[in-house]
Amino acid sequence: MQLTNRSKVVSDKVQTGMEKMYLPAILKGMMITASHIFKRRPTIKYPEHTRKMSAVYRGLHVLKRDEKGAERCTACGLCAVACPAEAITMESAERKKGEESLYREEKYARVYEINMLRCIFCGLCEEACPKEAIFLTDRIVDTEYEREDFIYGKDKLVEKIDKPIDVSKRQTLAVTEFKKIPGLKHNAVWEGNRLDRKSN
Ligand code: SF4
Ligand code: SF4
Repeated sequence: MQLTNRSKVVSDKVQTGMEKMYLPAILKGMMITASHIFKRRPTIKYPEHTRKMSAVYRGLHVLKRDEKGAERCTACGLCAVACPAEAITMESAERKKGEESLYREEKYARVYEINMLRCIFCGLCEEACPKEAIFLTDRIVDTEYEREDFIYGKDKLVEKIDKPIDVSKRQTLAVTEFKKIPGLKHNAVWEGNRLDRKSN
């Protein structure tokens, strides 16, 4: 019984001498190649040249610090739970007395790793984070030769104190308005500006 009309009759006509030499097919292929020679190349010579990425491009993650330079991440694990690729692992530790300037919360991530070969850059970790600690950025992951080099630890993920990474473009108006509520002090500084956090 025929269910659809999609079936095609396969031609079994005898090939000509020319067709047996595959010359028409080869010439056709070469014509296509030649037609592309003078076209503008859509590829770029990365890493010598880099493409300008959108500000909301989902690239390499950053673990943000607060306005005083302390790490925001409290090792709650929500990003790891939200990650569909199971790319995030971490080990938590208790903050000791005198480490208040290093870690904002009483618990922090002693180890925090993202396997960039597993990551699909979906951004769900960013959405899940209640501390605005992790963001995706417009940076791209470096090329490497060894698989283990793609496991990024805190040394590559935590932003440098003297080189803060601007993630303001990734934050919607609704989020920035939300953060103006007194008491919610996450990510209060960016682009050298301070949020207006006057008490109402
Ligand atoms: S961007 Fe997506 S896949 Fe990558 S670590 Fe975050 S949640 Fe996992
Ligand atoms: S990055 Fe955010 S969600 Fe992930 S462990 Fe740290 S505080 Fe929790």
